[in-house]
Amino acid sequence: MNSDCIAAISTAQAPGGVAIIRISGAEALSVAEKMFSPVGATPVAQFKPRYMYSGTISAAGGITDFGLCVYFKAPHSFTGEDVVELHCHGGVELSRAVLRQALACGARPAKAGEYTMRAFINGKISLSAAEGLADMINGESTAEVRAGSLLYSGRLTKAATEIQGELTDILAKIGADVDYPEEDIERTELFDIKDKLAALRARVQTLADSYDGGKKIKNGVSVAICGRPNAGKSSLLNALLGYDKAIVSAQAGTTRDVVEGELELGGVRFNFYDTAGIREEAGEVESIGISRAKQTLSSADLALIVYEGAWGAEETEILQHCPCPAIKVRNKRDISDLPDGNEDIFISALSGEGIEELKTLMRKTALPQGSLAGAFIIEERHYEALSRTARSLAGAENAIGIFPADVVSVDIKEAWDTLGEITGATATEEIINTIFSKFCVGK
Ligand code: GDP
Repeated sequence: MNSDCIAAISTAQAPGGVAIIRISGAEALSVAEKMFSPVGATPVAQFKPRYMYSGTISAAGGITDFGLCVYFKAPHSFTGEDVVELHCHGGVELSRAVLRQALACGARPAKAGEYTMRAFINGKISLSAAEGLADMINGESTAEVRAGSLLYSGRLTKAATEIQGELTDILAKIGADVDYPEEDIERTELFDIKDKLAALRARVQTLADSYDGGKKIKNGVSVAICGRPNAGKSSLLNALLGYDKAIVSAQAGTTRDVVEGELELGGVRFNFYDTAGIREEAGEVESIGISRAKQTLSSADLALIVYEGAWGAEETEILQHCPCPAIKVRNKRDISDLPDGNEDIFISALSGEGIEELKTLMRKTALPQGSLAGAFIIEERHYEALSRTARSLAGAENAIGIFPADVVSVDIKEAWDTLGEITGATATEEIINTIFSKFCVGK
Protein backbone atom coordinates (compact mmCIF):
# COMPACT_ATOMS: atom_id res chain seq x y z
CA MET A 1 0.00 0.00 0.00
CA ASN A 2 1.20 3.47 -0.87
CA SER A 3 1.11 5.21 2.47
CA ASP A 4 2.63 8.61 1.69
CA CYS A 5 0.65 11.53 2.99
CA ILE A 6 -1.68 13.26 0.51
CA ALA A 7 -3.60 16.53 0.80
CA ALA A 8 -6.28 18.26 -1.28
CA ILE A 9 -9.16 20.68 -0.99
CA SER A 10 -12.21 18.40 -0.76
CA THR A 11 -14.88 21.07 -1.15
CA ALA A 12 -15.82 22.88 -4.37
CA GLN A 13 -13.43 25.61 -5.52
CA ALA A 14 -15.79 28.55 -5.15
CA PRO A 15 -16.43 31.11 -2.43
CA GLY A 16 -18.54 29.52 0.30
CA GLY A 17 -19.07 29.34 4.03
CA VAL A 18 -16.56 26.61 4.72
CA ALA A 19 -13.79 24.77 2.85
CA ILE A 20 -12.34 21.44 3.91
CA ILE A 21 -8.71 20.45 3.36
CA ARG A 22 -8.28 16.72 3.75
CA ILE A 23 -4.98 15.10 4.67
CA SER A 24 -4.62 11.30 4.50
CA GLY A 25 -1.72 9.03 5.41
CA ALA A 26 0.23 7.85 8.41
CA GLU A 27 1.77 11.33 8.84
CA ALA A 28 -1.57 13.20 8.70
CA LEU A 29 -1.65 14.13 12.36
CA SER A 30 1.98 15.32 12.39
CA VAL A 31 1.27 17.52 9.34
CA ALA A 32 -1.70 18.99 11.24
CA GLU A 33 0.44 19.49 14.32
CA LYS A 34 2.72 21.81 12.34
CA MET A 35 -0.10 24.08 11.15
CA PHE A 36 -2.94 23.94 13.69
CA SER A 37 -2.82 25.56 17.15
CA PRO A 38 -5.77 24.40 19.27
CA VAL A 39 -7.58 26.82 21.58
CA GLY A 40 -7.98 24.17 24.31
CA ALA A 41 -5.32 22.43 26.36
CA THR A 42 -5.27 19.18 24.30
CA PRO A 43 -2.29 19.18 21.91
CA VAL A 44 -2.92 18.01 18.32
CA ALA A 45 -0.94 14.79 18.89
CA GLN A 46 -3.47 13.83 21.58
CA PHE A 47 -6.65 14.73 19.69
CA LYS A 48 -9.46 12.26 20.33
CA PRO A 49 -10.62 10.73 17.04
CA ARG A 50 -13.83 12.16 15.54
CA TYR A 51 -13.93 15.17 17.86
CA MET A 52 -13.90 18.69 16.52
CA TYR A 53 -11.31 21.03 17.96
CA SER A 54 -11.24 24.77 17.30
CA GLY A 55 -8.06 26.73 16.79
CA THR A 56 -5.83 28.75 14.53
CA ILE A 57 -4.92 27.38 11.08
CA SER A 58 -1.67 28.67 9.59
CA ALA A 59 -1.79 29.09 5.82
CA ALA A 60 0.97 29.86 3.32
CA GLY A 61 1.94 33.51 2.82
CA GLY A 62 1.73 34.34 6.50
CA ILE A 63 -2.09 34.05 6.52
CA THR A 64 -3.94 32.69 9.54
CA ASP A 65 -7.57 31.66 9.85
CA PHE A 66 -9.70 30.50 12.73
CA GLY A 67 -11.21 27.09 12.06
CA LEU A 68 -11.71 23.50 13.08
CA CYS A 69 -9.73 20.29 13.02
CA VAL A 70 -11.00 16.67 13.10
CA TYR A 71 -8.88 13.55 13.36
CA PHE A 72 -10.06 10.17 12.02
CA LYS A 73 -7.86 7.36 13.26
CA ALA A 74 -7.06 4.44 10.92
CA PRO A 75 -8.86 2.28 9.99
CA HIS A 76 -12.01 4.23 10.90
CA SER A 77 -11.79 6.85 8.17
CA PHE A 78 -12.93 7.23 4.57
CA THR A 79 -9.56 6.07 3.18
CA GLY A 80 -8.87 3.57 5.95
CA GLU A 81 -5.73 5.56 6.82
CA ASP A 82 -5.17 8.29 9.40
CA VAL A 83 -7.10 11.31 8.11
CA VAL A 84 -7.18 14.91 9.31
CA GLU A 85 -9.70 17.44 8.08
CA LEU A 86 -9.03 21.14 8.45
CA HIS A 87 -12.16 23.27 8.15
CA CYS A 88 -11.31 26.84 7.21
CA HIS A 89 -13.42 29.67 5.83
CA GLY A 90 -14.53 29.00 2.29
CA GLY A 91 -12.41 31.41 0.30
CA VAL A 92 -10.88 30.08 -2.91
CA GLU A 93 -7.47 31.68 -2.30
CA LEU A 94 -7.64 31.07 1.44
CA SER A 95 -8.27 27.34 1.06
CA ARG A 96 -5.45 27.12 -1.49
CA ALA A 97 -3.12 28.81 0.98
CA VAL A 98 -4.11 26.26 3.66
CA LEU A 99 -3.43 23.45 1.17
CA ARG A 100 -0.04 24.95 0.26
CA GLN A 101 0.84 25.03 3.94
CA ALA A 102 -0.11 21.34 4.31
CA LEU A 103 2.18 20.58 1.36
CA ALA A 104 4.98 22.60 2.97
CA CYS A 105 4.44 20.57 6.16
CA GLY A 106 5.11 17.25 4.44
CA ALA A 107 2.02 16.19 2.44
CA ARG A 108 1.98 15.86 -1.35
CA PRO A 109 -0.89 16.90 -3.64
CA ALA A 110 -3.50 14.14 -4.04
CA LYS A 111 -4.24 12.90 -7.55
CA ALA A 112 -7.79 12.77 -8.93
CA GLY A 113 -9.77 10.12 -7.06
CA GLU A 114 -6.83 9.17 -4.87
CA TYR A 115 -8.78 9.23 -1.59
CA THR A 116 -11.44 6.91 -3.01
CA MET A 117 -8.79 4.70 -4.59
CA ARG A 118 -7.11 4.33 -1.21
CA ALA A 119 -10.52 3.52 0.31
CA PHE A 120 -10.89 0.77 -2.31
CA ILE A 121 -7.35 -0.57 -1.85
CA ASN A 122 -7.81 -0.61 1.92
CA GLY A 123 -11.06 -2.57 1.56
CA LYS A 124 -13.32 0.25 2.78
CA ILE A 125 -15.51 0.17 -0.34
CA SER A 126 -15.96 -2.08 -3.38
CA LEU A 127 -15.27 -0.96 -6.91
CA SER A 128 -18.94 -0.66 -7.86
CA ALA A 129 -19.60 1.31 -4.67
CA ALA A 130 -16.82 3.73 -5.68
CA GLU A 131 -18.47 4.11 -9.08
CA GLY A 132 -21.79 4.75 -7.33
CA LEU A 133 -20.12 7.49 -5.34
CA ALA A 134 -18.96 9.14 -8.58
CA ASP A 135 -22.46 8.81 -10.04
CA MET A 136 -23.94 10.33 -6.90
CA ILE A 137 -21.53 13.29 -7.01
CA ASN A 138 -21.75 13.87 -10.76
CA GLY A 139 -25.44 12.98 -11.10
CA GLU A 140 -27.49 15.58 -12.94
CA SER A 141 -30.95 14.19 -12.27
CA THR A 142 -32.74 12.87 -9.20
CA ALA A 143 -32.87 9.35 -10.68
CA GLU A 144 -29.12 9.32 -11.39
CA VAL A 145 -28.25 10.46 -7.88
CA ARG A 146 -30.66 7.84 -6.46
CA ALA A 147 -29.12 5.06 -8.59
CA GLY A 148 -25.64 6.23 -7.57
CA SER A 149 -26.60 6.07 -3.93
CA LEU A 150 -27.94 2.50 -4.36
CA LEU A 151 -24.63 1.48 -5.95
CA TYR A 152 -22.70 3.27 -3.22
CA SER A 153 -24.68 1.44 -0.55
CA GLY A 154 -23.27 -1.80 -1.99
CA ARG A 155 -26.45 -3.15 -3.59
CA LEU A 156 -24.69 -4.49 -6.69
CA THR A 157 -21.63 -5.76 -4.83
CA LYS A 158 -23.93 -7.68 -2.48
CA ALA A 159 -25.79 -9.30 -5.38
CA ALA A 160 -22.54 -10.17 -7.20
CA THR A 161 -20.94 -11.59 -4.04
CA GLU A 162 -24.01 -13.72 -3.27
CA ILE A 163 -23.99 -15.20 -6.77
CA GLN A 164 -20.24 -15.79 -6.51
CA GLY A 165 -20.87 -17.66 -3.23
CA GLU A 166 -23.34 -20.00 -4.94
CA LEU A 167 -20.93 -20.53 -7.84
CA THR A 168 -18.21 -21.43 -5.34
CA ASP A 169 -20.52 -24.11 -3.88
CA ILE A 170 -21.19 -25.50 -7.34
CA LEU A 171 -17.47 -25.47 -8.19
CA ALA A 172 -16.78 -27.39 -4.97
CA LYS A 173 -19.28 -30.06 -5.97
CA ILE A 174 -17.84 -30.35 -9.46
CA GLY A 175 -14.31 -30.12 -8.06
CA ALA A 176 -14.93 -33.31 -6.07
CA ASP A 177 -15.70 -35.01 -9.35
CA VAL A 178 -12.58 -33.68 -11.02
CA ASP A 179 -10.32 -34.79 -8.17
CA TYR A 180 -11.88 -38.25 -7.81
CA PRO A 181 -13.24 -39.18 -11.22
CA GLU A 182 -13.94 -42.73 -10.06
CA GLU A 183 -16.54 -41.37 -7.63
CA ASP A 184 -18.59 -39.95 -10.46
CA ILE A 185 -21.27 -37.53 -9.30
CA GLU A 186 -24.79 -38.82 -9.80
CA ARG A 187 -26.70 -37.80 -12.89
CA THR A 188 -29.50 -36.42 -10.72
CA GLU A 189 -26.97 -34.20 -9.00
CA LEU A 190 -25.76 -33.05 -12.40
CA PHE A 191 -29.26 -31.94 -13.35
CA ASP A 192 -29.64 -30.29 -9.99
CA ILE A 193 -26.51 -28.24 -10.77
CA LYS A 194 -27.89 -27.40 -14.19
CA ASP A 195 -31.10 -26.06 -12.60
CA LYS A 196 -29.10 -24.01 -10.10
CA LEU A 197 -27.00 -22.51 -12.90
CA ALA A 198 -30.15 -21.64 -14.85
CA ALA A 199 -31.63 -19.89 -11.80
CA LEU A 200 -28.40 -17.94 -11.25
CA ARG A 201 -28.28 -17.00 -14.93
CA ALA A 202 -31.85 -15.68 -14.69
CA ARG A 203 -30.83 -13.55 -11.70
CA VAL A 204 -27.84 -12.14 -13.56
CA GLN A 205 -29.95 -11.54 -16.67
CA THR A 206 -32.61 -9.65 -14.68
CA LEU A 207 -29.88 -7.36 -13.34
CA ALA A 208 -28.43 -6.88 -16.84
CA ASP A 209 -31.89 -6.18 -18.30
CA SER A 210 -32.47 -3.37 -15.82
CA TYR A 211 -29.76 -1.46 -17.71
CA ASP A 212 -32.47 -0.64 -20.23
CA GLY A 213 -33.93 1.77 -17.67
CA GLY A 214 -30.53 2.45 -16.09
CA LYS A 215 -29.11 3.73 -19.36
CA LYS A 216 -31.92 6.28 -19.53
CA ILE A 217 -31.16 7.33 -15.97
CA LYS A 218 -27.48 7.82 -16.76
CA ASN A 219 -27.60 9.26 -20.28
CA GLY A 220 -31.10 10.69 -20.29
CA VAL A 221 -33.95 9.78 -22.64
CA SER A 222 -33.20 10.85 -26.24
CA VAL A 223 -36.28 12.38 -27.81
CA ALA A 224 -36.31 13.04 -31.56
CA ILE A 225 -38.80 15.70 -32.60
CA CYS A 226 -39.65 14.99 -36.21
CA GLY A 227 -42.22 15.92 -38.78
CA ARG A 228 -42.70 17.90 -41.96
CA PRO A 229 -41.26 21.41 -42.26
CA ASN A 230 -43.51 24.01 -40.62
CA ALA A 231 -45.41 21.47 -38.54
CA GLY A 232 -44.20 23.36 -35.47
CA LYS A 233 -41.27 21.24 -34.23
CA SER A 234 -39.10 24.16 -33.12
CA SER A 235 -42.11 25.83 -31.54
CA LEU A 236 -42.91 22.61 -29.67
CA LEU A 237 -39.32 22.32 -28.43
CA ASN A 238 -39.52 25.87 -27.11
CA ALA A 239 -42.88 25.20 -25.48
CA LEU A 240 -41.50 22.07 -23.79
CA LEU A 241 -38.35 23.77 -22.57
CA GLY A 242 -40.15 26.92 -21.60
CA TYR A 243 -37.69 29.22 -23.37
CA ASP A 244 -36.66 30.12 -26.93
CA LYS A 245 -34.00 27.57 -27.73
CA ALA A 246 -34.62 26.77 -31.39
CA ILE A 247 -34.97 29.46 -34.01
CA VAL A 248 -38.56 29.45 -35.22
CA SER A 249 -39.11 30.43 -38.82
CA ALA A 250 -42.15 30.53 -41.08
CA GLN A 251 -40.03 29.39 -44.03
CA ALA A 252 -40.20 25.65 -44.70
CA GLY A 253 -37.16 23.53 -43.90
CA THR A 254 -35.12 26.06 -41.94
CA THR A 255 -34.22 23.86 -39.00
CA ARG A 256 -31.30 22.11 -40.67
CA ASP A 257 -29.21 21.45 -37.62
CA VAL A 258 -30.04 19.22 -34.75
CA VAL A 259 -30.85 21.55 -31.85
CA GLU A 260 -30.60 20.25 -28.33
CA GLY A 261 -32.40 21.03 -25.12
CA GLU A 262 -32.87 19.33 -21.75
CA LEU A 263 -35.76 18.83 -19.40
CA GLU A 264 -36.20 16.73 -16.24
CA LEU A 265 -39.38 14.64 -16.22
CA GLY A 266 -40.15 12.12 -13.47
CA GLY A 267 -36.63 12.64 -12.07
CA VAL A 268 -35.02 11.65 -15.40
CA ARG A 269 -33.31 13.90 -17.91
CA PHE A 270 -34.94 14.08 -21.36
CA ASN A 271 -32.63 15.30 -24.16
CA PHE A 272 -34.42 16.77 -27.16
CA TYR A 273 -33.25 16.69 -30.73
CA ASP A 274 -35.14 18.89 -33.14
CA THR A 275 -34.72 17.45 -36.62
CA ALA A 276 -35.32 18.74 -40.11
CA GLY A 277 -38.39 17.18 -41.70
CA ILE A 278 -37.81 13.80 -43.23
CA ARG A 279 -38.70 14.29 -46.91
CA GLU A 280 -37.27 12.14 -49.65
CA GLU A 281 -37.61 14.75 -52.41
CA ALA A 282 -35.69 17.50 -50.56
CA GLY A 283 -32.79 19.50 -52.04
CA GLU A 284 -29.12 18.86 -51.35
CA VAL A 285 -28.52 21.12 -48.36
CA GLU A 286 -31.67 20.01 -46.68
CA SER A 287 -30.89 16.36 -47.27
CA ILE A 288 -27.90 16.76 -44.91
CA GLY A 289 -30.41 17.70 -42.26
CA ILE A 290 -32.59 14.82 -43.32
CA SER A 291 -29.85 12.24 -43.03
CA ARG A 292 -29.11 13.68 -39.61
CA ALA A 293 -32.77 13.37 -38.72
CA LYS A 294 -32.66 9.70 -39.65
CA GLN A 295 -29.48 9.29 -37.64
CA THR A 296 -31.09 11.00 -34.66
CA LEU A 297 -34.12 8.76 -34.97
CA SER A 298 -31.95 5.63 -35.11
CA SER A 299 -30.55 6.34 -31.64
CA ALA A 300 -33.70 7.84 -30.12
CA ASP A 301 -35.56 6.36 -27.14
CA LEU A 302 -38.72 8.24 -28.03
CA ALA A 303 -39.99 10.08 -31.12
CA LEU A 304 -42.49 12.90 -31.27
CA ILE A 305 -44.04 13.02 -34.74
CA VAL A 306 -45.42 16.52 -35.07
CA TYR A 307 -47.98 17.28 -37.74
CA GLU A 308 -50.69 19.81 -38.51
CA GLY A 309 -53.99 19.22 -40.21
CA ALA A 310 -54.30 15.60 -41.23
CA TRP A 311 -51.90 12.70 -40.75
CA GLY A 312 -50.38 11.89 -44.17
CA ALA A 313 -48.08 9.55 -46.04
CA GLU A 314 -44.96 11.48 -44.88
CA GLU A 315 -45.87 10.98 -41.25
CA THR A 316 -46.46 7.28 -41.87
CA GLU A 317 -43.01 7.12 -43.47
CA ILE A 318 -41.39 8.81 -40.47
CA LEU A 319 -43.18 6.35 -38.21
CA GLN A 320 -41.66 3.52 -40.24
CA HIS A 321 -38.18 4.94 -39.55
CA CYS A 322 -38.79 4.94 -35.78
CA PRO A 323 -36.97 2.15 -33.95
CA CYS A 324 -38.52 3.40 -30.70
CA PRO A 325 -41.96 4.26 -29.30
CA ALA A 326 -43.50 7.25 -31.08
CA ILE A 327 -46.12 9.77 -30.02
CA LYS A 328 -48.28 11.28 -32.77
CA VAL A 329 -48.52 14.95 -31.81
CA ARG A 330 -51.04 16.98 -33.74
CA ASN A 331 -50.19 20.68 -33.47
CA LYS A 332 -51.92 24.03 -33.98
CA ARG A 333 -55.06 23.23 -32.05
CA ASP A 334 -55.64 26.98 -31.70
CA ILE A 335 -56.44 27.15 -35.44
CA SER A 336 -58.75 24.17 -35.63
CA ASP A 337 -59.67 21.91 -32.76
CA LEU A 338 -61.41 19.14 -34.70
CA PRO A 339 -59.57 15.84 -34.00
CA ASP A 340 -58.49 13.85 -37.08
CA GLY A 341 -58.63 10.58 -35.19
CA ASN A 342 -54.96 9.68 -35.72
CA GLU A 343 -53.42 11.81 -32.98
CA ASP A 344 -52.24 10.51 -29.63
CA ILE A 345 -52.41 14.06 -28.38
CA PHE A 346 -53.70 17.35 -29.81
CA ILE A 347 -51.78 20.45 -28.74
CA SER A 348 -50.92 24.03 -29.56
CA ALA A 349 -47.22 24.82 -29.29
CA LEU A 350 -48.16 28.47 -29.63
CA SER A 351 -50.74 28.73 -26.84
CA GLY A 352 -49.23 25.98 -24.67
CA GLU A 353 -52.45 23.97 -24.67
CA GLY A 354 -51.77 20.27 -24.04
CA ILE A 355 -48.05 20.72 -23.32
CA GLU A 356 -48.28 19.45 -19.72
CA GLU A 357 -50.37 16.47 -20.89
CA LEU A 358 -47.73 15.76 -23.53
CA LYS A 359 -45.01 15.77 -20.87
CA THR A 360 -47.01 13.22 -18.85
CA LEU A 361 -47.53 11.07 -21.94
CA MET A 362 -43.81 11.24 -22.77
CA ARG A 363 -42.90 10.16 -19.27
CA LYS A 364 -45.33 7.25 -19.33
CA THR A 365 -44.20 6.12 -22.78
CA ALA A 366 -40.44 6.36 -22.23
CA LEU A 367 -40.38 5.22 -18.60
CA PRO A 368 -43.07 2.55 -18.17
CA GLN A 369 -44.25 2.23 -14.60
CA GLY A 370 -41.80 0.37 -12.40
CA SER A 371 -39.01 0.42 -15.00
CA LEU A 372 -36.88 2.68 -12.81
CA ALA A 373 -37.93 1.49 -9.37
CA GLY A 374 -34.80 0.44 -7.55
CA ALA A 375 -32.74 0.51 -10.77
CA PHE A 376 -29.02 0.77 -10.14
CA ILE A 377 -27.39 -0.78 -13.21
CA ILE A 378 -26.50 2.55 -14.79
CA GLU A 379 -22.87 1.89 -15.69
CA GLU A 380 -22.18 0.28 -19.05
CA ARG A 381 -19.23 -1.51 -17.48
CA HIS A 382 -21.54 -3.32 -15.06
CA TYR A 383 -24.03 -4.17 -17.80
CA GLU A 384 -21.25 -5.55 -19.97
CA ALA A 385 -19.82 -7.66 -17.12
CA LEU A 386 -23.28 -9.01 -16.23
CA SER A 387 -23.97 -9.93 -19.86
CA ARG A 388 -20.66 -11.79 -20.07
CA THR A 389 -21.45 -13.57 -16.80
CA ALA A 390 -24.83 -14.68 -18.19
CA ARG A 391 -23.12 -15.98 -21.36
CA SER A 392 -20.55 -17.98 -19.36
CA LEU A 393 -23.33 -19.45 -17.21
CA ALA A 394 -25.28 -20.43 -20.33
CA GLY A 395 -22.10 -22.08 -21.65
CA ALA A 396 -21.74 -24.06 -18.42
CA GLU A 397 -25.41 -25.11 -18.52
CA ASN A 398 -25.09 -26.37 -22.08
CA ALA A 399 -21.88 -28.24 -21.31
CA ILE A 400 -23.32 -30.16 -18.35
CA GLY A 401 -23.90 -33.81 -19.08
CA ILE A 402 -22.11 -33.51 -22.42
CA PHE A 403 -18.59 -32.47 -21.50
CA PRO A 404 -16.46 -33.58 -18.54
CA ALA A 405 -16.85 -31.64 -15.31
CA ASP A 406 -13.52 -29.83 -15.65
CA VAL A 407 -14.74 -28.28 -18.92
CA VAL A 408 -17.96 -27.14 -17.23
CA SER A 409 -15.99 -25.67 -14.36
CA VAL A 410 -13.99 -23.46 -16.76
CA ASP A 411 -17.18 -21.58 -17.72
CA ILE A 412 -18.32 -21.33 -14.11
CA LYS A 413 -14.93 -20.02 -13.04
CA GLU A 414 -15.11 -17.47 -15.86
CA ALA A 415 -18.54 -16.30 -14.61
CA TRP A 416 -17.12 -16.03 -11.09
CA ASP A 417 -14.15 -13.94 -12.30
CA THR A 418 -16.36 -11.64 -14.36
CA LEU A 419 -18.54 -10.92 -11.32
CA GLY A 420 -15.31 -10.10 -9.52
CA GLU A 421 -14.67 -7.31 -12.02
CA ILE A 422 -17.79 -5.62 -10.64
CA THR A 423 -16.76 -5.84 -7.00
CA GLY A 424 -13.13 -5.16 -7.86
CA ALA A 425 -11.75 -8.47 -6.61
CA THR A 426 -10.59 -9.51 -10.09
CA ALA A 427 -10.52 -6.11 -11.83
CA THR A 428 -7.33 -5.30 -13.71
CA GLU A 429 -5.17 -2.32 -12.80
CA GLU A 430 -6.25 -0.70 -16.08
CA ILE A 431 -9.95 -0.92 -15.17
CA ILE A 432 -9.24 0.42 -11.69
CA ASN A 433 -7.15 3.35 -12.97
CA THR A 434 -9.80 4.27 -15.55
CA ILE A 435 -12.51 4.34 -12.91
CA PHE A 436 -10.62 6.51 -10.46
CA SER A 437 -9.35 8.91 -13.09
CA LYS A 438 -13.00 9.97 -13.57
CA PHE A 439 -13.10 11.36 -10.04
CA CYS A 440 -12.20 14.92 -9.21
CA VAL A 441 -9.20 15.95 -7.10
CA GLY A 442 -10.11 15.92 -3.42
CA LYS A 443 -12.46 12.91 -3.68
P1 GDP B 1 -40.80 23.57 -37.81
O1 GDP B 1 -40.35 23.88 -39.19
O2 GDP B 1 -41.53 22.26 -37.74
O3 GDP B 1 -39.72 23.66 -36.78
O4 GDP B 1 -41.92 24.65 -37.43
P2 GDP B 1 -41.78 26.01 -36.59
O5 GDP B 1 -41.76 25.74 -35.15
O6 GDP B 1 -40.68 26.82 -37.18
O7 GDP B 1 -43.18 26.66 -36.90
C1 GDP B 1 -43.58 26.97 -38.22
C2 GDP B 1 -44.63 28.06 -38.16
O8 GDP B 1 -45.82 27.57 -37.51
C3 GDP B 1 -44.19 29.27 -37.37
O9 GDP B 1 -44.66 30.42 -38.02
C4 GDP B 1 -44.87 29.09 -36.03
O10 GDP B 1 -45.11 30.30 -35.37
C5 GDP B 1 -46.14 28.40 -36.41
N1 GDP B 1 -46.69 27.58 -35.33
C6 GDP B 1 -46.04 26.65 -34.62
N2 GDP B 1 -46.87 26.10 -33.70
C7 GDP B 1 -48.06 26.69 -33.84
C8 GDP B 1 -49.34 26.56 -33.18
O11 GDP B 1 -49.54 25.79 -32.26
N3 GDP B 1 -50.34 27.37 -33.62
C9 GDP B 1 -50.17 28.26 -34.63
N4 GDP B 1 -51.20 28.98 -34.97
N5 GDP B 1 -48.99 28.40 -35.27
C10 GDP B 1 -47.96 27.63 -34.90
